[in-house]
Amino acid sequence: MNEQFIRKDGRPFNSLRNMKMEIGVLNNADGSAYIECGNNKILVGVYGPKELYSKKHSKPDGAVLRCKYNMIPFSVTERKRPGPDRRSTEISKLISEAITPAIFLEKYPRSSIDVSIEVLEAEGGTRCLGIVGASLALADAEIPMKDLISACAVGKVDNHIVVDLSEEEDQTGQADMPVAIMPRTGEITFLQMDGNLSVPEFEEAMQLAYDGCYYINQLQQQTLLKKYGGE
Ligand code: ADP
Repeated sequence: MNEQFIRKDGRPFNSLRNMKMEIGVLNNADGSAYIECGNNKILVGVYGPKELYSKKHSKPDGAVLRCKYNMIPFSVTERKRPGPDRRSTEISKLISEAITPAIFLEKYPRSSIDVSIEVLEAEGGTRCLGIVGASLALADAEIPMKDLISACAVGKVDNHIVVDLSEEEDQTGQADMPVAIMPRTGEITFLQMDGNLSVPEFEEAMQLAYDGCYYINQLQQQTLLKKYGGE
């Protein structure tokens, strides 16, 4: 039944929005990435690893990863009040937790790695794109990692399981489930669920999430290869 379903923006159930990725876009950051996905525009800068002098905040056995997700005031149609709020604090924490399993933090004791995620334009799915962009920017900063973490949302819209929900689908759909995975191992590093899915729907959604993440991972790898060569 899914095969026949065409979404409001013309996509079939298993299509992501058009994506564009670039790294090394900022001169003053140690690593950076810019991502577009549909009308989402996200800029990520990485600073570090840098020695963390504060004993209170540093860890003797590894670097402290500090992610900051921020939506700029004109990133949404209604002006957003500048500064942190509950949502941005939650998303900063979950992005940090989603990418931590991939980073060899133990290589940098008593240090900090700062990741700034600036949402320039939002259209649904920014937490996943923040994870994708943060992974790319960390790789661009040449911080050793096990893999590039990839993420996308899946959900239920008009009784169909779909991938990469737009803002409208997120708001009007029956379920939204952002997922991040480490493609090399298949390990899920982040999963949230807003709404309801039956067990078969959840299984179908997870398969779409894996497919979406593997596709995004290919794009991430191609983006790195474009700058750093390889094959
Ligand atoms: P995500 O961006 O990860 O999907 P949400 O589900 O919280 O996160 O938000 C969905 C979308 O709703 C966002 O991408 C953005 O387009 C819009 N949105 C979020 N917060 C605001 C806000 N304060 N004002 C207007 N639109 C917002």
